[in-house]
Amino acid sequence: MTRSCKVAVIGAGMSGLVAARELLHESHQITVFEKSHRVGGTWVYDPCVESDLVGLDPHRVKVHGSLYASLRTNLMRPLMGFSDFPLTGRDFGDGRKFPRHEEVLHFLEAFAADNGLMGFVKFGAEVVQVKRTSTSTDDELSARWMVKWVQGEQEKIDHFEAVVICNGHLSQPSLPQIPGIDRWPGKQVHSHNYRTPEPYLNQVVVIVGMGPSGFDISVDVANAAKEVHIASRSLWFKVGKIPGMENIFEHEVVSHVEPDGRVHFADGFSVLASIILYCTGYSYHFPFLEINNLTVDDNRVGPLYKHVFSPRYGPHLSFVGITCATIIFLTSELQSKWIAQVLSGKCTLPSEDEMMSSVKEMYDEMEQAGKPKHRTHWLYDEMEGYLDWLAAETGLPQLERWWFHMFDALLKSLASFGHGFRDEWEKMPYSNLLK
Ligand code: FAD
Repeated sequence: MTRSCKVAVIGAGMSGLVAARELLHESHQITVFEKSHRVGGTWVYDPCVESDLVGLDPHRVKVHGSLYASLRTNLMRPLMGFSDFPLTGRDFGDGRKFPRHEEVLHFLEAFAADNGLMGFVKFGAEVVQVKRTSTSTDDELSARWMVKWVQGEQEKIDHFEAVVICNGHLSQPSLPQIPGIDRWPGKQVHSHNYRTPEPYLNQVVVIVGMGPSGFDISVDVANAAKEVHIASRSLWFKVGKIPGMENIFEHEVVSHVEPDGRVHFADGFSVLASIILYCTGYSYHFPFLEINNLTVDDNRVGPLYKHVFSPRYGPHLSFVGITCATIIFLTSELQSKWIAQVLSGKCTLPSEDEMMSSVKEMYDEMEQAGKPKHRTHWLYDEMEGYLDWLAAETGLPQLERWWFHMFDALLKSLASFGHGFRDEWEKMPYSNLLK
């Protein structure tokens, strides 16, 4: 016999939508809270930027989206869909292998409409507080969740048996410590607030960080800037020399900056710069969550069993989309299936102690491997095993291997072709790319 639970889903981005679909599939009663006025989350381009461009002021006017105008996906089309609702074969105007961001938004809107999800979403509904209704520890497991949400001027409260958090984690800027930065006179911006290259016209720009955003934004900025100096720890992802773009220079990390505007790099080079653009990633942030048993410490959200369930609250508190360095859509889909089945009783979670042991084991392994805490939710090498485990747990047939072959081929082509990787892939049929 399966159970049907009353479940709150927070967020109607990609993770919230696929969680909603899976929960409905298992006959749960859902309410999806979405603070904006449309579905799609990250994929809704917002030309507005925040009032504090580096995101330090807690009272700043906030913006959820981090997309820049020219953004194209960095995973190819087959990796940007769900297992039974692919993006491949659906063309919303940009049929390229790495389409522009609008294509993904249209896809998610189609996913929501085709799966009848729109009627379950409360729009303009920001969740401001989530907590247990009982304060007594003994009653914890029979307690319910109180969800306080604001819509317009109205504050409302609802109660649920379970909460699934899908609020995204690419909105709260994370900044590096740079010696001398307090007295550095130039402009500082986090990539969260980068939209178009025009404000950088003829400027000397230092880009700090070479993750996926730094990789793309450096070239976008170079279309307008006089010079772009990239400071990066990464030896792997290099932008490389791009024909016609002799104004991009790659360096080691920034060692310090000076009050006269000079930026020094660890390789001994220095430059007089007017803008530092931080492409240094984001921090997990759950401002509404009021519980004792979960912390964010150096970007480790924990304890979380398999990056999804709080061991303390078991099936009743879960997260979708915390993991990164993975095939993101597929991962959120499988995590959502697992949550829906755990809530309905089709899948069983281990005991709290067992889940805690599993989390501790993961932390110990990370420490032994020298993996820093802030990489806790980066899957990379563990991705295949993790996704296979989720598929098996939820009774799916083994995942087709092309998902992983294509992901590996993509990483390799990034290393070989630098910034030209999208054009290289465009020239070839997918089958060639898997060889
Ligand atoms: P989000 O998309 O962030 O959605 C979270 C939703 O929750 C939002 O709609 C938000 O309004 C809502 N919300 C937040 N807090 C509350 C609250 N308190 N109450 C109510 N609602 C709330 N992924 C790829 O697979 N391929 C790519 O090429 C790719 N490129 C990217 C480029 C950039 C610049 C960025 C920033 C991300 C990129 N990603 C890419 C990752 C992308 O974030 C994921 O693909 C995916 O969209 C994440 O979905 P999500 O639902 O987990 O989070």
